[in-house]
Amino acid sequence: MQAVNVIINLSTNQLNNSFTYLVPEDMTTEIGFGKRVLVDFRGKKIEAFVVGLLEIENDPELKPVLKVLDQEEVFNHELLELAQWMADYYSVSLSMVLSMIIPRLLHHKTSMRLIANVSREEFFKTNCDIEIPVKDFLENLWAKKEVDLAETSRYLNKIQLDDLMSRGLVGMTGIYKTSRVLRNDSIYILNQVKFQEEISLIRRKAPRQAEALERLAAHPGINCNEFDKIVPRTITSALIKKGFVSIEKIKPKITVPEFELNNEQNDAISRIIKGLDGHQYSEYLLFGITGSGKTEVYIQAAQAAIDQGRSVIVLVPEIALTRQLVDIFSRRIPDIAVMHSAMSAGERYEEWKRIKRGDAKLVLGPRSAIFAPTPDLGLIIMDEEQENSYKQEETPRYHVRDIARQRARLSAAVFLMGSATPALESYYRTETKKTELLRLSQRTAGAVMPEVVIEDMRNSFKSGNRGLVSDYLRNRIGHALIMGQQSILFINRRGHSPMTICKECGNIASCPNCSVGMTFHRDLEQNVCHYCNRHSPQLTVCQVCGSRHLQLAGVGTQKVEEEIRRLFPEARIDRLDLDSSRPKGAQKAILQAMKEGSIDILIGTQMVAKGLDFPMVSLVGVIDADSLLNLPDYRARERCFQLLVQVAGRAGRADIHGEVIIQTYNPQEPLFQKVVSHDYQSFYDDEIKIRRLLEYPPFTDILRIVISGEAEPACQEYSGELARFIEEMIDAKEDSIMILGPAPCPISKIKKRFRYQIMIKCFSSLLLRSIAAKINNRNHPASIKIELDLNPMATI
Ligand code: ADP
Ligand code: ZN
Ligand code: ZN
Repeated sequence: MQAVNVIINLSTNQLNNSFTYLVPEDMTTEIGFGKRVLVDFRGKKIEAFVVGLLEIENDPELKPVLKVLDQEEVFNHELLELAQWMADYYSVSLSMVLSMIIPRLLHHKTSMRLIANVSREEFFKTNCDIEIPVKDFLENLWAKKEVDLAETSRYLNKIQLDDLMSRGLVGMTGIYKTSRVLRNDSIYILNQVKFQEEISLIRRKAPRQAEALERLAAHPGINCNEFDKIVPRTITSALIKKGFVSIEKIKPKITVPEFELNNEQNDAISRIIKGLDGHQYSEYLLFGITGSGKTEVYIQAAQAAIDQGRSVIVLVPEIALTRQLVDIFSRRIPDIAVMHSAMSAGERYEEWKRIKRGDAKLVLGPRSAIFAPTPDLGLIIMDEEQENSYKQEETPRYHVRDIARQRARLSAAVFLMGSATPALESYYRTETKKTELLRLSQRTAGAVMPEVVIEDMRNSFKSGNRGLVSDYLRNRIGHALIMGQQSILFINRRGHSPMTICKECGNIASCPNCSVGMTFHRDLEQNVCHYCNRHSPQLTVCQVCGSRHLQLAGVGTQKVEEEIRRLFPEARIDRLDLDSSRPKGAQKAILQAMKEGSIDILIGTQMVAKGLDFPMVSLVGVIDADSLLNLPDYRARERCFQLLVQVAGRAGRADIHGEVIIQTYNPQEPLFQKVVSHDYQSFYDDEIKIRRLLEYPPFTDILRIVISGEAEPACQEYSGELARFIEEMIDAKEDSIMILGPAPCPISKIKKRFRYQIMIKCFSSLLLRSIAAKINNRNHPASIKIELDLNPMATI
């Protein structure tokens, strides 16, 4: 008999083992590996993933599969293996990982049907007095096993149905089926010869088809979606069948670059190709300063993999950058697929199918693109590998670098990371020879690195300047304006002022839900909490002592904008941060305006720092560099360095000389000096020493456990209990492991929940994962939420 092994789709962590079900005779052609099915599990009808097919002797103990839910497989063997690894590595359930990698559109069911969750006998044991229509309905359901909604409504009204559902007596199921989504990039092509020869005949025999043909003749190359709006699909389909019309994809024109590669680029590419030719796992770090031509290396590496008949995944940190790279890649490589969160579920699903069929050889997108069903994967490229957005900040909290590395291993593929400021972990791997280092040390086409200047704000203060902008920075902005060049001013915080302080009692206005200060927003004339988004009116009196002497303190983007507008009333000024970019399309419009040169001064948060290429920017100012350093986090220095190098890289991209001015009250800080000398290596040498000394990653792995709850005592108490549980577990091996805490998190309350944390540092990642698994399998109190984070990006 045929049977299947399935993973039950329940979010409980304990269920990573599979269960066997029989396949009824009439389902043998329908069923398949990688499809979802409905099964009876512990008396409930639940969905499950088919992870294996097998032949067995008939076993009366086994239950049958009730239904096949998918029409096509939703994951393949390679993705299952990857998911299994992920579930194990991050101590999460396999079903959760599998659900995550399935396209969103395939989470919606169609043709909903009702099924009984209890047997007839069981039901009558406990229910005797029931209404006639309900009884008739159930009898019918037991007899037929499934009924559709139309039939149900002949027996039951909505209240009766809701009652049955809420008591868990009946459930709903359907099948996962999607209608075709037409892509916007296809056009209809008219067969001119056939049209000329046969149009008069068609006019007589099928006038509506003739009309459609004439429309098409009048609008050659019309977009399919457009045409479908004026002419019914059935008519067009008939014309396609008869050979009058065909569908063609619009392909961007493929071009070749006009420049010659420099030696370093050539060397990098030939070493990657050597890796591809080896057909076994290999790993590279392309370490190239901003503007050194990394993209060209990516493209030629991708072309080499595609020439071998293999496919390529290109990972990018965020949507804003996706567009830019899509443009560049699609001018060079035909048939690329794009996936990102701003696309509709339907569009993503269409791309997913193209990739699965092998029609698109290259897929480009942010983190989730790593789960694309690419056949015969040859190369994974991860641009700006140090970016934080590669880490998913909700369970499963995975880092895409880990997943990419594992996926490349499973496919015997090449893993190519690229960065101007590699993550410490990645650069360390090149020192231990786990990764091959490829260097691009020159800017291309003669562009030079910008000059970086440290501006001592203590002097600015002494000279009587009370503003946010030093005299020097002000002069340089003025100079850029006169020269018709653009400036970017970077500030790490949005809003106007992050603090409202009472001058009499010192109280700082804070959010009642979270243990953080409220940020004043000038445009709203309101205080906003950046953690829970609570809005409240600007304070006029102190909440503690009632004093009217309140002062706004600290600096946000809006305050900088206010000051810059005052200093340069004639300049064209705009602001790019989370608030200004929230309206749909606003971010794109601001970036476009910047590109066209219709903005003189752009003020913004990190959003202005990332990978954007504006040739007319000659000046970058960092308003408050100190705010980047003072974070309670072992990665804070690394992030500060990366951010400063990145913003600095915005200046002088083309043939104009760039200048970067870093304003600080700590000009002697070595980290700033290393930004001045563009010296990653020396920054790395210092920083890796600290990590080694303090036993932080990459020398150890860290597991952060956040324990949160609405009642502080319960939360604190359980944190203690959990810490003792962990201590008992590791007693014998204490040399290789350290437990820090429990202690309140740096932000001890978010959204009304109190937060405690325990950090475990461990030299053995295997040991750490076994601890994580044991913590997961423990029964925690219902009022407490436990979140595990392996090697967290931030520990606030
Ligand atoms: P990165 O990603 O390293 O910051 P880019 O890949 O954006 O740098 O390259 C910067 C610019 O240099 C691009 O406009 C690119 O077309 C150009 N470029 C790349 N390689 C060369 C080369 N060998 N000679 C001249 N220009 C080049
Ligand atoms: Zn007060
Ligand atoms: Zn809040």
